[in-house]
Amino acid sequence: MNDYNAPVDLLRDKVILVTGAGDGIGAQAAKTYAAHGAICILLGRTVSKLEAVYDDIVEAGGQEPAIVPLDIKGATPSHYQQMTQTIIDQFGRLDGVLHNASILGHLSAFKDIDAEEWQDVMQVNVNGMVYMTQALIPALEKAENASVIFTTSSVGRKGRAFWGTYAVSKFATEGVMQTLADEYQNKTLRFNCINPGGTRTQMRAQAFPAENPDTLKTPEDIMPMYLYLMGNDSIEVNGQSLDCQPKK
Ligand code: NDP
Repeated sequence: MNDYNAPVDLLRDKVILVTGAGDGIGAQAAKTYAAHGAICILLGRTVSKLEAVYDDIVEAGGQEPAIVPLDIKGATPSHYQQMTQTIIDQFGRLDGVLHNASILGHLSAFKDIDAEEWQDVMQVNVNGMVYMTQALIPALEKAENASVIFTTSSVGRKGRAFWGTYAVSKFATEGVMQTLADEYQNKTLRFNCINPGGTRTQMRAQAFPAENPDTLKTPEDIMPMYLYLMGNDSIEVNGQSLDCQPKK
């Protein structure tokens, strides 16, 4: 579905939460969803970045987004429950979630993984995603059809030396997706993963500082897959982990 050509009104009036919406792939996804008619809820930890995405969406003629400033590292299940109640009060339902926020941590030999950093990466990449998903399910069940997209990585399917913490967090992401997809089969909720593959963002530059970014896809290049899985054309797709195509 990398060549998916989304109708301009694919997401008309759908309420979609994007985590890590201030930068990189998440910022592009929020702008792209808004350009296809969605009302986006922009969640992230740096308010100025969320405001910039908000401005871009409004200037482009998109529906006014909502901003949720939240550092996933410090958030607890009760934060997510309050957020869900606010979403239900304001919009009545939630049509989609893109779980995109993640941190990389430092690449190191497994034996040298720092315990505190392990906990931080698991807190942001796994626990936050799990608690948020649990809390959001009642709002997602109020939608006619809801799509939940998790963000995986190739190291979440096959372990790689020195990528221990991040890789394990992405294996967990695949596991969460598969479990939920199985629990909700034949229901109105579907759960899938996207593996963006090497994409020109700050995280990629942190992982591969010597790489020429011009050799990489941009976040914009990979949006067809993000649109496909969020919109109703993927209504039958559940429990899949799909790759964005490599740069041509
Ligand atoms: P970026 O680092 O560019 O963006 C990550 C976003 O997540 C930022 O907006 C960041 O906020 C936000 N974020 C990080 N920590 C928190 C937190 N504690 N609370 C709230 N928000 C937070 O990453 P990418 O765009 O590259 O990555 C997006 C997703 O794609 C990630 O899940 C990543 O693992 C995955 N991925 C990326 C690949 C790539 O090549 N780029 C390849 C494979 C997977 P802030 O801006 O404030 O830092």
